[in-house]
Amino acid sequence: MSTTELDAAALEQFRLMLLEMRRAAAAAVDARLHGHGEHRHDEAGLPLHKEETDDDAAAETQRQADVTHLARSATALHEIDSALARLDQGDYGLCIDCEEPIDLRRLQAHPAALRCARCQQDFETQRSRVGGRG
Ligand SMILES: [Zn+2]
Repeated sequence: MSTTELDAAALEQFRLMLLEMRRAAAAAVDARLHGHGEHRHDEAGLPLHKEETDDDAAAETQRQADVTHLARSATALHEIDSALARLDQGDYGLCIDCEEPIDLRRLQAHPAALRCARCQQDFETQRSRVGGRG
């Protein structure tokens, strides 16, 4: 079977999930880019009353954490966008490498997944072997 096993209702559900994820990722990017003024890190759980040690180093560490988080959110956004594009094209749920349907449980856990578990594994193995360029 060269087509996805997902019916229209399932696709619609994934679309809604992706749109919600997209909104969350966009908000995260937005917050990082425009979040000057107050420094809040609700998810990091950092203690508010820090010892007055190395403020600059701490700020730098925080900046790097922000950049990392920003990059991750931007990547997530990109993945979500391409998943949505594939939904429109009717390719959603098919592995971009082997073109087999992606396991439904995998899609439910990762609606933006582009590859089946096996190809994703191969992809990550190859990428880590090539190394250097992230
Ligand atoms: Zn595959």
